[in-house]
Amino acid sequence: MTPEEVQRYSRQILLKEIGGVGQNALKAARVLIVGAGGLGGPSGLYLAAAGVGKIGIIDDDYVELSNLHRQIQFKTADISASKVDSLGNSLRQLNPHIVTGHHFERLTDENAMSILKDYDVVLDGCDNFQTRFAVNKACLSLSIPLVSGALGRFDGQLSAFKNDGQSTCYRCFVPHEPEGIESCAAVGVLGAMAGMIGSMMALEAMKIITGAGEPLYNKLFLFDGLSANARTINLPRDPSCPACSSANILAR
Ligand SMILES: [Zn+2]
Repeated sequence: MTPEEVQRYSRQILLKEIGGVGQNALKAARVLIVGAGGLGGPSGLYLAAAGVGKIGIIDDDYVELSNLHRQIQFKTADISASKVDSLGNSLRQLNPHIVTGHHFERLTDENAMSILKDYDVVLDGCDNFQTRFAVNKACLSLSIPLVSGALGRFDGQLSAFKNDGQSTCYRCFVPHEPEGIESCAAVGVLGAMAGMIGSMMALEAMKIITGAGEPLYNKLFLFDGLSANARTINLPRDPSCPACSSANILAR
């Protein structure tokens, strides 16, 4: 680390759980953010500020006026620009020591493996289950830890999946696409909720990278913004999971 980097990160290097070793681990880490929206923005900003060496972003969308109340990584002047490029620019302006990887496309079963293989941790804050299932499948195949966050109205949830073949995976939790789940565009969401869950996704990623504390493996964090009630429940592995059960791994 250069003297400038030591000064930049000094307040987190002070934490005994991080220290110089943890800071170097962050610098060496490669994190992929799936979805450059309300969750991907704050998580990316905190990861960039913390010095995560490479941050990849995958999204096929453009910035719209109705995004700006929650996707605070974008400015009004960014409207109509690609979210991948706008977020990447924001992250590098925040911290010129990092590099960004731009994937201007939708993540699918076809391209997931070739994109994810270059990353150590994946953060999924996308807005559809097809992409979440493709992310989970590729993370399982490549044994990449996955941090998954979601929002609806005033509810937020967060979990981490180790994908080591023995822990709960995303589809143990969501085996099939639930019916009746509507998007933020349909039900509404407050930006501060996205900021909270997005920040917690960054925190989970940093814990996984540095070994600090205990990631939310096999657990689900739930937050009700209206009452400010939070709870963490166990998320057991499903022996008949369509993605990670031994029978399905053989069939995959
Ligand atoms: Zn599973």
